[in-house]
Amino acid sequence: MARAEVRGVPAAPGIAIGTVARLGAVTARRRVAGAPAQEAAALVFAISAAIGELTALAGATGSDAAGIVEFQVAMLQDPALRAPALDAIAAFVPADAAWAEALARQVADYEAAEDAYFRARAADLRDLAQRVLRHLGAATALPEVPPGAILLAEDLTPSLFLQSDWRGGGIALAAGSPASHVAMLARARGVPMVVGLGMVEATAGEAAVLDGGAGLLLLGPDDADRSRLAAPPAPDRSALLHRPAVTAAGRKVAVLLNVSDPGELDELDPAMCDGVGLVRTELLFAAGPPDEDTQVRAYRRFLDWAGGRPVTIRTLDAGGDKPVPGLSVAGEADPFLGQRGLRLSLARPEVFTVQLRALVRAAAHGTLHIMLPMVTVPEELQAARALLAEAAADIGRPAPPLGIMVEVPAAALAIGRFDAAFFAIGTNDLVQYVTASARDIAAVAPLADPRNPAVLRLIAEVAVHGARTGREVSVCGDAAGDPALVPLLLDAGIARLSMAPNAVGEVKAAIAAHGREGTMP
Ligand code: PEP
Ligand code: MG
Repeated sequence: MARAEVRGVPAAPGIAIGTVARLGAVTARRRVAGAPAQEAAALVFAISAAIGELTALAGATGSDAAGIVEFQVAMLQDPALRAPALDAIAAFVPADAAWAEALARQVADYEAAEDAYFRARAADLRDLAQRVLRHLGAATALPEVPPGAILLAEDLTPSLFLQSDWRGGGIALAAGSPASHVAMLARARGVPMVVGLGMVEATAGEAAVLDGGAGLLLLGPDDADRSRLAAPPAPDRSALLHRPAVTAAGRKVAVLLNVSDPGELDELDPAMCDGVGLVRTELLFAAGPPDEDTQVRAYRRFLDWAGGRPVTIRTLDAGGDKPVPGLSVAGEADPFLGQRGLRLSLARPEVFTVQLRALVRAAAHGTLHIMLPMVTVPEELQAARALLAEAAADIGRPAPPLGIMVEVPAAALAIGRFDAAFFAIGTNDLVQYVTASARDIAAVAPLADPRNPAVLRLIAEVAVHGARTGREVSVCGDAAGDPALVPLLLDAGIARLSMAPNAVGEVKAAIAAHGREGTMP
């Protein structure tokens, strides 16, 4: 097979080297239909069985997936989803055909939606349609993805993602979306994924390389490609992992973790870090806003794991690349410039207050800091602080320290205006806004470079402001977990880095090497 490069949209970073697997279509089988009353009962029974199966799956999969599976359960429980199928059954259409047709119409509506969030939910609906059809005895079992393969498919359902072994493999989709539930799972579990590849001519078994971060599928790679892209054998960092991070010049650097779900911490030893620098709470809201008690339980799990180390929990950053059903605004021309993060929370005080109350209550069980995303002007910080003070007074507990993400240029450039308890620089968004290069558009990825001197200057200025005013400044964007960028951040005056857990070993090595002869940038 001749070498061919196919470009798509990055959905989850990482490199997979392997062979292509393709999914066969899931075909419908014939079933014998009964009278309308029997068919209606069969459909309701199949939906209940699917709900039972999904509920069990939510308990059995990692808790990062539970919210997504619960979202599917909520859809199946919605009477509006099944109503058109039941109407068709009453008109003597067999249950399987009625369900398949009703869901196909809804999938088409979702696919035609203007809003990327709704388009991304079409895969969930297709998943539900097949699951119920299987219970009606009208669809074959889920196809199998060979372990370690690079799966090439039109789109992928959460069910198939969850039942497959992706170790060493990757996902290449002709359609799909970086905002889909499968993409969220792929990012959380480190499975490289590219979407929007369009028609790809490749046969099963063909050699391929998938570069999730670059949005690239390489078919028929040559030896030069393989050695350029193959990850070098990982050096053993176990000796460093549990030691505090110190540069060669003796400067201490705090290493913190970025997490989205308490389940990510289950296998980790808290001694590897100085705390949790960023809890993204969007996944907790994936099935709609959770009630106060559910949130308290989730926040406590981070604090219990940390055992007294500081845990910084960010209030909901819905919108932009992190749509949340029922909350983020549909149909914005550019969701990255729209009502996302704190802007949305302030517009929905009834939702924001529940989160603030849960955070105040959870703070009794550890060292909790609250962080606000997408702060643009000091008035937003003041408004959030007033709501937090109200929640704390109502509960009768002190308000935790309130800090801000520095990820909007207006905040970075005028940092002295913000009377926050601490600052956390979000390089993912800061880079996209400073370089005017959207973080989800592969074609402008080379411009979205944290090494851009304009970005580094802003980081250094925030670090100086923090040192002068005695406030901690961390970096919690992806740059903090990139060993190649760590020297630049240290040189900019940053001494707190927050990153994905699997980056800690390499970042500690980069910190230890910093300042040694020959390692200066
Ligand atoms: C960032 O923007 O760098 C950041 C940490 O936040 P998120 O990636 O969740 O937008
Ligand atoms: Mg951000």
